[in-house]
Amino acid sequence: MERLKTKIRDIPDFPKPGILFKDITPLVRDPASLRLAVHQLLHPFLGQDITAVGGMEARGFIFGALVAWELGVGFIPLRKPGKLPHDVQSISYHLEYGSASLEAHTDSLGPGDNVLLVDDLLATGGTAKASCDLVESLGATIAACAFVIELDFLKGREKLSNYTIHSLLHY
Ligand code: IMP
Repeated sequence: MERLKTKIRDIPDFPKPGILFKDITPLVRDPASLRLAVHQLLHPFLGQDITAVGGMEARGFIFGALVAWELGVGFIPLRKPGKLPHDVQSISYHLEYGSASLEAHTDSLGPGDNVLLVDDLLATGGTAKASCDLVESLGATIAACAFVIELDFLKGREKLSNYTIHSLLHY
């Protein structure tokens, strides 16, 4: 895991002053690190009855699609509003300032689906909690949520106390 940490770049004051942004682009640029991260993300879930992987826009698409490929299941993009072309289910959630929404196609999941959610980073947990609610609103269950990075000091895990959380790197 220390190898992966060397591939996470800190960007001060992005996207706004006072935020220290964890940039995963050096990790995904390095083939061995990308492979290691994907395998570590999915490892606890091998042999579990996962029927689909959901990924949050946009960096969740990178890791989620690769995890889905390795598990041999399909991928569900959870997108920002107005991006999906067919009938959507939406969920709104609060951010520190203002609100945000995520959408999924209504026919992408249903009862009988057991979904592994994947994103690059767990911060306050608002995005992940909304994603769990969105998946469940379509009748599916959440197998677990997997993250490359967890910012422990923001306590996002507390919002997800009903779910299994798997994070590779802790800050
Ligand atoms: P949360 O909703 O506060 O947990 O924020 C998590 C979401 O914001 C995830 O979809 C992340 O991709 C994104 N995010 C927040 N902070 C960072 C960061 O430092 N690096 C990369 N993504 C971040």
